[in-house]
Amino acid sequence: MIDMQDIYMTYPNGVVALNGINVTIEQGEFVYIVGPSGAGKSTFSKMLLREEVPDRGRIIVNNKDLSNLKMKEIPYLRRDVGMVYQDFRLLPRLTVYENISFALEVIEESPKSIRRRVMEVLDLVGLKNKARFIPDELSGGEQQRVAIARAIANRPQLLIADEPTGNLDPETSWEIMRILEEINNTGTTVIMATHSREIVNAIKKRVIAIEDGLIVRDEHRGEYGYEA
Ligand code: ADP
Ligand code: ADP
Repeated sequence: MIDMQDIYMTYPNGVVALNGINVTIEQGEFVYIVGPSGAGKSTFSKMLLREEVPDRGRIIVNNKDLSNLKMKEIPYLRRDVGMVYQDFRLLPRLTVYENISFALEVIEESPKSIRRRVMEVLDLVGLKNKARFIPDELSGGEQQRVAIARAIANRPQLLIADEPTGNLDPETSWEIMRILEEINNTGTTVIMATHSREIVNAIKKRVIAIEDGLIVRDEHRGEYGYEA
């Protein structure tokens, strides 16, 4: 599913963000990415979407070698990868329904299949009754559930969540985790960058720790491993 070999990446200002990353992630895995701020976690995620390009090394995502990817193929790659962010990133003037249908209309589905799929993913996150609301009318946890529904609407093979519970209270965070686990149980690979020691230590998954642009730990059913 994902194979990174010898990935190095330096930002134009000279900051070395990734310093020789080697990792393989199989289809269907659930992986936490942990590590201090500035360690390279977001840069790692951006590599998978080709939002950043490595200086050297090889990246394969969904059997696509990103180094050979043509510009016009990038949108297809991004369709196969759902993204969820700490700050939700919903479109504020669109309803919940429209935030999700917008993501689908981009790939030219029929109106009927769009409608069916929007209601299906809203049902999955428990928000069918909020379809007509706008993001401001929802709680943070509900907004994140909409963002997750949008991210999976195109049935991506891979879901990347960058601190999805970072702005949420503990109870809401557990709800979000239940949904991410449910998505993972249908076969979707989930990669989640997080600073939540409680979540990582309670819901045991593979843990990859990044420090100074390097993987310093990679454990099956690992611990968070840092002080809170
Ligand atoms: P993390 O997600 O673990 O906090 P990042 O991947 O965001 O780490 O950042 C890794 C390093 O790269 C940090 O030193 C950060 O300051 C730097 N960095 C991140 N984005 C940029 C950018 N656009 N330009 C320059 N430096 C950046
Ligand atoms: P179902 O077909 O699953 O029973 P409904 O058609 O009853 O679902 O719709 C559930 C909710 O979604 C209702 O609040 C409905 O008004 C809303 N909804 C359905 N389609 C749209 C749409 N195109 N735009 C905005 N809201 C919609």
